Amino acid sequence: MIPSVLPTYNRVPLSFTHGEGAWLVAEDGRRFLDMGAGIAVNVLGHAHPALIEALTAQAGKLWHVSNLYQIPEQQALADALVDATFADSVFFTNSGTEACELAVKMARKHWAAKGHPEKTGLISFSGNFHGRSSAAIAASGTDKMIGGFGPVLPGFVHVPWGDHDALHSAIDEHIGAILIEPVQGEGGIRPLPDQCLKGLRELCDEKGILMILDEVQCGMGRTGRLFAHEWAGITPDIMMVAKGIGGGFPLGAVLATEDAAAGMTAGTHGSTYGGNPLACAVGLAVMRHVSDPDFLAEVRRKAALLRQRIESIVATHADVFEEVRGVGLMLGLKCRLPAADVVEAGFAHELITIPAADNVMRLLPPLTLSDSDIAEAVSRLDRAATAASLKAKAPA
Ligand SMILES: *Cc1c(COP(=O)(O)O)cnc(C)c1O
Repeated sequence: MIPSVLPTYNRVPLSFTHGEGAWLVAEDGRRFLDMGAGIAVNVLGHAHPALIEALTAQAGKLWHVSNLYQIPEQQALADALVDATFADSVFFTNSGTEACELAVKMARKHWAAKGHPEKTGLISFSGNFHGRSSAAIAASGTDKMIGGFGPVLPGFVHVPWGDHDALHSAIDEHIGAILIEPVQGEGGIRPLPDQCLKGLRELCDEKGILMILDEVQCGMGRTGRLFAHEWAGITPDIMMVAKGIGGGFPLGAVLATEDAAAGMTAGTHGSTYGGNPLACAVGLAVMRHVSDPDFLAEVRRKAALLRQRIESIVATHADVFEEVRGVGLMLGLKCRLPAADVVEAGFAHELITIPAADNVMRLLPPLTLSDSDIAEAVSRLDRAATAASLKAKAPA
């Protein structure tokens, strides 16, 4: 019999009753150190007082009115994002995949409005993840994502990640946009070197192509900058944001320059919930914390500390781990043992990490984790690696 919750997830048999900072408390009372943050979502950790205050204050006033009316909280969050980034305009969604939908629609509408309706093509890269909507799975193009779901949204051209020649030969007069994650998340924490992001920007400018960055996972302070592309000193035309932007409240956004958004006039797009007062009140509180230069400097300091300690764990457990990669508090431990086994060994030591493609164990902790949380995470990872190694050596 089919479970009452549609069985689309492979769930770990753990359930939590509450959280505080970087800690989650399980039903049986065990305290887990959360180095996953709900997949890079809880940027301010669990039960952050400023977020509780923002949510409860708004909850007592107004939850929802629809985008038929002015929404001051939405306006304030849009202004904060425009002030802090390349963007001139913002549309709010409830998720990353909805942000992908709009990014694709916006790029196509841009070219239609500019008299180039033929430029509907989008280039995306292997190992990417942009969500589960029809546009997002078309951008992925893998059988795992599209198999059995019928006709695929046309116009996507897939290029192997890091293959410059393939990229250049994929460009023709139909290509209107390039879509890429500055740091691949689900694909196994693969940062695009700054040089490549710069080169992509130049290529887009030269060929008249819009650059869409997917910062759903790597944005909102995760890499130690508000957005990951800032490291390369370039700006996109369109950017997808979600995950961390709501700190745990469902919220996403598409940020764009005025020129990229030129086709998006009244009536061209909409969302009932997108940018509602509750979500934006919380988003504004998240934004105030995460965009603070002192907060970001702290993220970079803690990231350097964590990275250094993790490097030494990887060196001492060379039979378990191969390498560390990533930027800021977005780290991937490429495993020699099956990553799923190492993640499971972590659970036995009350350490939460997240598997990714390419046999990688991901560390995506709350950006607020403390130095003692870092010490604890490293010690638990050390013990988990020892256990995973012993288990792998044990006769079956
Ligand atoms: C999670 C993710 C998405 C999809 O976001 P949802 O909110 O799950 O729809 C898109 N892009 C990237 C890079 C992601 O990590």
